Amino acid sequence: MNSNAHFRHFAERAAAGEPVLPQCGSCQAVFMPPRAVCPECGTPGPGWVPGAGATGTLYSYTVVESREGPIIIGLAELDMITEGSKFYASVLGIDAGDVAVGQRVRLDTAENEDGVLVPVLMVEGGTK
Ligand SMILES: [Zn+2]
Repeated sequence: MNSNAHFRHFAERAAAGEPVLPQCGSCQAVFMPPRAVCPECGTPGPGWVPGAGATGTLYSYTVVESREGPIIIGLAELDMITEGSKFYASVLGIDAGDVAVGQRVRLDTAENEDGVLVPVLMVEGGTK
């Protein structure tokens, strides 16, 4: 698998309602974004670990106004991810006026505007 194939697998598992995160079989690093080579030790062909329910902390966010109402896009530091970048996804479960940096989130899936399940960050104990 090249990096595009890894990203496709990541999207396909999320679309099946079973989000996964790439994990190196050699050094066990869990990383984002999906890619063909471990960013920590360089071992090719990482495997996958279940990501549903993975918890983390909201690092930053932005609110995008749309015709359907405000959309929150967030970057989260997931506790499982040991290497690479933060996790980027829509933030659900809270009103745009109540979202705050530092809130606890968990990885889940929800339908996008095309009816496809995509990874989302669900605020724990959110306001909606
Ligand atoms: Zn590694």
